[in-house]
Amino acid sequence: MIPSAFDYVKASTVDEAVAALAEAGEDAKVLGGGQSLLPVLRLRLNAPTVLVDVSGVGEMRSISDEGGSLLIGAAVTTYEVLHDAAVNASVPLLSQTAGLVADPAIRHRGTFGGSCTHADPAGDLPTVARALDAEFVIAGPGGRRTVAAADFFVDYFTTAVGPDEVLVAVRVPKLDGWGSHYEKFHRTAQAWAIVGVAAAVKVEGGSITGARVALTNVGPTPVRAASVEAALIGGPATVEAITAAAQSAADGTSPTSDTHAAADFRTHLAKVLTGRAVAKAAGL
Ligand SMILES: Cc1cc2nc3c(=O)[nH]c(=O)nc-3n(C[C@H](O)[C@H](O)[C@H](O)COP(=O)(O)OP(=O)(O)OC[C@H]3O[C@@H](n4cnc5c(N)ncnc54)[C@H](O)[C@@H]3O)c2cc1C
Repeated sequence: MIPSAFDYVKASTVDEAVAALAEAGEDAKVLGGGQSLLPVLRLRLNAPTVLVDVSGVGEMRSISDEGGSLLIGAAVTTYEVLHDAAVNASVPLLSQTAGLVADPAIRHRGTFGGSCTHADPAGDLPTVARALDAEFVIAGPGGRRTVAAADFFVDYFTTAVGPDEVLVAVRVPKLDGWGSHYEKFHRTAQAWAIVGVAAAVKVEGGSITGARVALTNVGPTPVRAASVEAALIGGPATVEAITAAAQSAADGTSPTSDTHAAADFRTHLAKVLTGRAVAKAAGL
């Protein structure tokens, strides 16, 4: 299908992008890699009158080392996240997960920021951001603000980014000294997660001293498995202890049934995949 007619603005700075959104009013949409937005336009599920392309904004195309964290531009592609040396060294959970997103063609065009702002409950990268307590730098007519991951993902396909705002970058804490793993259950190698689990653990002297666990596609937004984290911390880094802790992985989730899986199967997957993800993160 062919989208409705729209004007196209190629921004070269964040300020230009914000000004173009302000000028266009509520009918404008930001264009990242277009991998989710363009199918929506072609199906005429949305008909913006203006697209503001941010894929050429230099500030949004870079990854910078801030010491304890990496600041990843929103227009950095999933392919670049997968292959960036700093991400690989400091946040391997993010690069491993990027390698599980879609296929190479989509990874080459789709962006980290677009994936987070699209906020598909089946999206993999938002779950990693939620597990690691990432921060989102958002620019709008009133300047810039920073939103914690816990407040960024609001509902199905809805984030804290307003219609007149641009996601500029995502600040991701480094995982030095932690083990991590993303476990994804999907129908085929290049499909969305039926359920996914992002896990990072710190193991010292045979005990788990830090744990971060978040789940994909068991509710409208990525869900932090707080009760699993509490059960893990202070316990032994053994398969038995991890499997026991993972039994509470479905706490706080609200999975739905669809053509891929029934809600109770998703609940089962949440527990099994959490056990696997945490065990692999702990090196077991
Ligand atoms: C066949 C297929 C398979 C896929 N499989 C997976 C998968 O397994 N796992 C997975 O996680 N994802 C998957 N995806 C989604 C893919 O990762 C998309 O690239 C991603 O969801 C959107 O990124 P984008 O840069 O293309 O965003 P776009 O399509 O350009 O935009 C998506 C939304 O985000 C907004 N937006 C984009 N950038 C910004 C910004 N900087 N500021 C404000 N708003 C912005 C747009 O306005 C739009 O509403 C798949 C997509 C396809 C088509």
